[in-house]
Amino acid sequence: MAGPKGTYDVLPGTEFGAALAVRETLLAPALLAGYAYAESPVFEATELFARGVGESTDVVTKEMFTFSDRADRSLTLRPEGTVGVLRAALDANLHKGQLPVKLRYAGPMFRAERPQAGRYRQFQQVGVEALGLDDPALDAEVVALAWQAFAGLGLRQVRLLLTSLGDPACRPAYRDQLTAFLDGLDLDDDTRRRARLNPLRVLDDKRPEVQAQLAGAPLMVDALCDACRDHLAAVQAGLNALGVPYEAAPTLVRGLDYYMRTTFELVHDGLGAQSAVGGGGRYDGLSQAIGGPPLAGIGWALGVERTVLALRAEGLDVPAEQGVSVFVVPLGAAAKAHAIGLVGRLRTSGIACDLAYGDRGMKGAMKAADRSGASYAVVLGDRDLEAGEAQLKDLREHAQVAVPLDELVETLKERLL
Ligand code: AMP
Repeated sequence: MAGPKGTYDVLPGTEFGAALAVRETLLAPALLAGYAYAESPVFEATELFARGVGESTDVVTKEMFTFSDRADRSLTLRPEGTVGVLRAALDANLHKGQLPVKLRYAGPMFRAERPQAGRYRQFQQVGVEALGLDDPALDAEVVALAWQAFAGLGLRQVRLLLTSLGDPACRPAYRDQLTAFLDGLDLDDDTRRRARLNPLRVLDDKRPEVQAQLAGAPLMVDALCDACRDHLAAVQAGLNALGVPYEAAPTLVRGLDYYMRTTFELVHDGLGAQSAVGGGGRYDGLSQAIGGPPLAGIGWALGVERTVLALRAEGLDVPAEQGVSVFVVPLGAAAKAHAIGLVGRLRTSGIACDLAYGDRGMKGAMKAADRSGASYAVVLGDRDLEAGEAQLKDLREHAQVAVPLDELVETLKERLL
């Protein structure tokens, strides 16, 4: 029985069975940079997303899973993480303490999109947010953390696309300039409507007939005010200092409305149509848009499933969950009684271990030991027990030694820890 359309299950051996390990690896650089763990509810008031993500965005107009609770309040499953984490931080007054507030998160997001490879209705993101400061050095840190997230997994075909979307001082004039340019083009009604709502989005139109007409379009990077130009230059200098390569992407537009100045996307060339593995940017107006105080912020979100697909596309190992190191095989009732205690002692000593349950005999138990991925098996027969020892089998080297029972834990600790 399959789950709902556009969903998948995380189970050992399934396509995204490594999701947890991938999430942790992606966030490891953020942890090293002082980003604290945050969790906000999976559902929020619908209005929060309408205001925060933007009324005109595809996400809000077409893709939200919205429902009413029993008191007729409109709630929505979060389509992204930033708005909820920002609301939570404001609610807890974190912005009145030490700045920047640095947070990291991971979890499921929900969008009613048309499912296809790399696109799901429930998918997982990891993300970071740095709140309260408008410092280009912080932008560089945040962007670098996204780059390092993928680099840490060994991915080599990720490209970082970077631009500036300007700010309220320079974007309106640019918008007018672009609108005037778009008015002169031969566009269909739907695209015209989109151009009126947000002309920048048209730049992102993938259709060749539209792209051909956009060749001479005015670009935001050419219309930045001095403050935005300096900000972008400082972010680029920071990335250079951090050794993070980026490509200028003057037509980059993001799907969510709240970005300003630093805007970036990470794409993987081995993924076909759904090539974006992550993206983010600065969103200094977002706090006020959701009813909070003026508050600067920058962050990103990375897609966990697409990261797994990218690892496969590059033929890289998907990080595996840590399995057990030791598998204890008792043969006989007295041996089993002893083995239960032994397994307990090994675990207390910090050694991951499992026991051959089910009294399946030597052959079945050794097969289970091999499948467990353990490096060692401890085989304990009733005769071993009488002799006060156990057989320690090195499953990689296929070597075996007898070890006194009271030295087993120490011996395994020496070999494994
Ligand atoms: P966004 O919040 O749209 O900027 O998305 C950030 C990242 O999340 C994207 O770059 C994708 O890697 C991933 N993502 C977004 N939507 C989906 C989806 N429907 N299914 C799987 N991954 C997604």
